[in-house]
Amino acid sequence: MTTPMKIDKVSIVIPVYNEQESLPELMRRTLAACEQLDADYEILLVDDGSSDDSAAVLTAAAEAPGSHIVAVLLNRNYGQHSAIMAGFSHVTGDLVVTLDADLQNPPEEIPRLVEVAAQGYDVVGTVRQNRQDSWFRKRASRMINALIQRTTGKAMGDYGCMLRAYRRHIIDAMLHCHERSTFIPILANTFARKTIEIPVMHSEREFGDSKYSLMKLVNLMYDLVTCLTTTPLRMLSVIGSMIALLGFAFSLLLITLRLFLGAHWAAEGVFMLFAVLFIFIGAQFIGMGLLGEYIGRIYNDVRARPRYFVQRVVSQNPLSSQQETQ
Ligand code: UDP
Ligand code: MG
Repeated sequence: MTTPMKIDKVSIVIPVYNEQESLPELMRRTLAACEQLDADYEILLVDDGSSDDSAAVLTAAAEAPGSHIVAVLLNRNYGQHSAIMAGFSHVTGDLVVTLDADLQNPPEEIPRLVEVAAQGYDVVGTVRQNRQDSWFRKRASRMINALIQRTTGKAMGDYGCMLRAYRRHIIDAMLHCHERSTFIPILANTFARKTIEIPVMHSEREFGDSKYSLMKLVNLMYDLVTCLTTTPLRMLSVIGSMIALLGFAFSLLLITLRLFLGAHWAAEGVFMLFAVLFIFIGAQFIGMGLLGEYIGRIYNDVRARPRYFVQRVVSQNPLSSQQETQ
């Protein structure tokens, strides 16, 4: 059951990295879409250390009298998700919508997202209907989405699409996380109670090329996996223990056979050397698994994600009705 909620102000957050050609059209279309909202709005464009004229274009747009545009300029390139986080720390609305600057996410979908969020959802995700990306990107996305679904059990089909809406308390919770590398849609879902996914259109990139090189994509994938889970570290201890056990069993077998069948069978000591080697390898894997367990715990502590997030305290005492964490 969802209870409809009133939205007074919508904040749009858009990360921008070398997108000077698409900015005029992006701002025009986003402003036009926001004009259709019943609520007040602001558009935060975060310049992620662009080396072209993006920062100047954004500054000029934000300085125009009565402008709804806010320009947040970062001093260098930190990556899409860090740029969005920087935008989050400056939003003033009750609902925050993110989208890409390259017009692959049509800004015309914003009113629909806001409408769905107003029905009482914490996070509104989207599924790209006619995804206009390379075959390789689509394949990789499908695999990763399947992996996330298996790990989280949450039925969201498309984590890669950044056209999303988050309620303010989700943004606040995310800002309380102290990890450096993060994947926003997944982080948001860890704090969301009610989520929904709606189909949206997707367009081809009109200007320039994707800002993600292969290395950056690999990096993003690791951010995503580590943001989601420390299971790979746990696997190290599980698989490591299995290999260790096998190694011990095999070395025992070699020693026993050596005793019964004699030195000649054991190639004059070579098999004994192998037996000793297996024991050492086994011990190493156990050690690594143990290290993995410690590192997993250290990692969780370093991220310092809020252990819980109180959305509201209902009380007669006005002092206790603020948001709090920990
Ligand atoms: N972006 C950014 N910093 C970066 C890389 C990308 O702010 O280091 C922005 C970029 O300007 C765009 C969005 O992130 O608004 C998505 O990037 P892109 O369209 O290149 O990714 P793709 O669509 O290929 O996944
Ligand atoms: Mg794109």
